[in-house]
Amino acid sequence: MSDAIAEASASKATSDGATQQVDVAVVGAGFAGLYLLHRLRKAGFTAVAVDEASDVGGTWYWNRYPGARCDIQTIDYSYTFDPELDSAWKWSEKYATQPEILRYLGFVADRYDLRRDIRFGTKVTNATWDEAAERWRLTTDNGAAISCRHYIMATGCLSTPKPPEIEGVKDFKGEIYFTGRWPHHEVKLAGKRVAVIGTGSSGIQAIPLIAEQAAHLTVFQRTASFALPAHNGPPSADRTALLQSDRAGYREQARWSMAGVPFPPAPVVSWQLSDAERRERFEQAWAAGDLVHILTQLWADQGVDVDGNALVSELIREKIRGIVKDPETAAALSPNDHPFGSKRPCLDTNYYATYNRPNVTQVNLRQEPITSITASGIKTDKRNFDVDVIVFATGFDAMTGAIMAVHPITGRGGKSLSDIWAKGPQSYLGLTVAGFPNLFMITGPGSPSVLSNMAVSIEQHVDWVVDRLQAMREAGFSAIEATATAQDGWAQHMADCSTLTLHRLANTWYTGANVPGKALGVMPYTGGVGPYRSICNEVVSRGMLGFRLTGPDVAAQCNDGEIVRLQPDVRIVLNMLADMNLPPIESLGPEGARAFLAQFNAGRPAGRPVGEVGDGALQGADGPVPYRLYRPATPGPHPIVVYFHGGGWVLGDELSDDPFCRDMCRRTGMIFVSVGYRHGPEHPFPAAAEDGYAATKWIAEHTAELGGRPAPVLVAGWSAGGNIAAVTCQLARDRGGPQIAGQLLLCPVTDCDFDRPSYRENAEGYFLTRPLMDWFWDMYCPPADRTDPRVSPLRGKLAGLPQAFVVTCEFDPLRDEGVAYAEALAAAGVPVEQLKARGQMHSSFTMVDVVITGVSGRVKMAEALRRFAGLAQEERQADKGARSDGLAA
Ligand SMILES: Cc1cc2nc3c(=O)[nH]c(=O)nc-3n(C[C@H](O)[C@H](O)[C@H](O)COP(=O)(O)OP(=O)(O)OC[C@H]3O[C@@H](n4cnc5c(N)ncnc54)[C@H](O)[C@@H]3O)c2cc1C
Repeated sequence: MSDAIAEASASKATSDGATQQVDVAVVGAGFAGLYLLHRLRKAGFTAVAVDEASDVGGTWYWNRYPGARCDIQTIDYSYTFDPELDSAWKWSEKYATQPEILRYLGFVADRYDLRRDIRFGTKVTNATWDEAAERWRLTTDNGAAISCRHYIMATGCLSTPKPPEIEGVKDFKGEIYFTGRWPHHEVKLAGKRVAVIGTGSSGIQAIPLIAEQAAHLTVFQRTASFALPAHNGPPSADRTALLQSDRAGYREQARWSMAGVPFPPAPVVSWQLSDAERRERFEQAWAAGDLVHILTQLWADQGVDVDGNALVSELIREKIRGIVKDPETAAALSPNDHPFGSKRPCLDTNYYATYNRPNVTQVNLRQEPITSITASGIKTDKRNFDVDVIVFATGFDAMTGAIMAVHPITGRGGKSLSDIWAKGPQSYLGLTVAGFPNLFMITGPGSPSVLSNMAVSIEQHVDWVVDRLQAMREAGFSAIEATATAQDGWAQHMADCSTLTLHRLANTWYTGANVPGKALGVMPYTGGVGPYRSICNEVVSRGMLGFRLTGPDVAAQCNDGEIVRLQPDVRIVLNMLADMNLPPIESLGPEGARAFLAQFNAGRPAGRPVGEVGDGALQGADGPVPYRLYRPATPGPHPIVVYFHGGGWVLGDELSDDPFCRDMCRRTGMIFVSVGYRHGPEHPFPAAAEDGYAATKWIAEHTAELGGRPAPVLVAGWSAGGNIAAVTCQLARDRGGPQIAGQLLLCPVTDCDFDRPSYRENAEGYFLTRPLMDWFWDMYCPPADRTDPRVSPLRGKLAGLPQAFVVTCEFDPLRDEGVAYAEALAAAGVPVEQLKARGQMHSSFTMVDVVITGVSGRVKMAEALRRFAGLAQEERQADKGARSDGLAA
């Protein structure tokens, strides 16, 4: 529908004086509210927007402090919904100033004639759902109340400044300013003694400019932030050229990227680079002056792994020490209490150099906390600072502040949102809340919001919501509400996502830690903008999964369920594999499948370094077989784990699970010997099993030679390798040795019977398929032999076997036979522990480089192996918080 037709067909908002009647009420007239109004009108809805401010702009209306700018390059921080608008506006700077962004939003409001439907200077004070009428009633502090079918909160993530928590603010006789509520008149600071409290993004932007004006500036810092030079200037020539060469493609890439800015994923991990190479990449990033660049392009592990992150954090601290002359001030400015990126990093212009000025003093509140504000200034527990002006750059009650400030929001059954959110925000997709029909939040908690280019996230949310309202209207539905199941599932998915990044390791406004008494937890969605978009699309394509839709003349529709049950990174991997449209492995034949696997593995980054890696040959059942040995960097001798790789007895070799062996070698502090046992169909059953046993025996007899501890070995294996490990334990028991101290069975094949629910539920779509398992069995073992315990160990005698740790994955055809084996072991009196990995698939734990959520499982596996070997447990700093995530047992 064209704009003109849509607007003509839209019924006009009506008012009975006390109440304004509209289809949709939008609260907020910033980036989100403006685009909403435009889309709603175009879709033929009557709509009103309400804003406390006296003009459009939202963030950019309120934040007028010196130095206020965006920190995403402005060519990316723009609307993209209308290509004509996109090319009609030219930004003058790489990072535009607040006045320019405000002019842009005014330009947008004029271009689409939006102001006529905005009630400025009006605050929405509370909202109540009228169940009988299926409408929201909004009360305002200025003029008519509003009755609307749908209530959309475009109230902003950073729009409620945090009130100062310091005693005595009212006693201060000088001037007080808040960066988030800066006055519209000129603020004269020249010749004055100014205090700035707070060194987050706003403080860091304002401090250098205030220092230039003030007679003296005292900066009160509680938490140091990482800041990078913006290198501001004209819009970046590279990015502008990219945009202009293919505007649609550029914008589309941003929509599907992780942060809403079109950068590809970082191709390398830190340990693949030398110190010099890392430094070179870092210097390039430092010179680029782009937060998204440094957060995404340095090395892939910097945002997800403590060790990878420590490298970049230290390089930034080195820069700070190089700029700030006074070592004590430099040390105070150097963040040491959070990983880089886990707290919002800042872009600066001369921030650190400002501390070299003679008129600037830094006060480290970790050493001398503020005790009060007095009539003449600020008092710490050590000193008094007399000042004329205090600037509070203390940030916002982020993400939930503006939503909760509308109080009460009363939903179905008289429930209040603030009660429902008392222990932290609950939502479905960050867009809706169960119990609050027809209420939508734009960039609400649970969506990528502040971890993204918000312009992109806002457009995605607005489009999704307005498309849904249109679809509802067409189908005759008048109410939509998230189900409790969907909402709980989203909370679980959010928790899973939060293990992907390092945000959980810092106390920040992302987690609510900056507001006393606020419930703690990572509020924004950390799974990325592109994955989030695909989930929202999937909700629609699966029949509005997780929503209940009702209407006066249609049957209610409720397709209940959880939208994401896979771990977030597993979902990404499976989607990537699906997009590659690979031929089924079994269709390639053994040689083709092996070549495919070798090529697939070659494209993956090498595993992490260990102390030593060496190759050799050992005595198999029928001649020598190769092995690869991974030795820890710690002094030996170490216990030895005999490892059997996966590959369905047909594929793989002693090198193919290299990243997993390295990771486990590092975590356990044990030697891993990966055995190159023989494969079918060239060497059918029982060749692999017999090689497994022979290799274990040989290794047990050569522990000293291999640098191992003179003690029983352990065995471990994944998939068909898990099968060989299990069988080896049975053969060792029955053949008089060697002694085995414990077995780690990772997604093992334990039985030839496919008649299990996991084979039916996960037959296709999770990498290991039922047809592929059929093929593996056919390549290795003739039907007549399949019940032999040397290939179906579940059918063997289980008493007297070594203690076991059995790992199964929820989305794996082999899940139920692994569980059956663990239960059968326990029933036979074998000490056994199970780890049922929720949301994981067959290859999750061996895809060390891409399935980050596999860390928690590997931590548990390593603990089990150390326990079996009688070693003490030690928690690595890098594993902090990872142990209990994503696991069901
Ligand atoms: C200094 C600063 C710099 C930023 N830089 C970037 C950047 O570079 N890139 C980026 O992606 N994001 C940035 N952000 C985040 C920024 O908030 C968003 O990019 C975006 O402007 C949010 O738009 P919005 O419309 O959702 O909310 P806002 O712009 O916050 O607008 C919300 C509006 O709702 C109104 N409102 C709230 N509650 C009520 C109520 N009860 N009644 C009436 N009106 C109400 C407010 O008055 C406000 O005008 C920055 C934020 C700040 C503070």
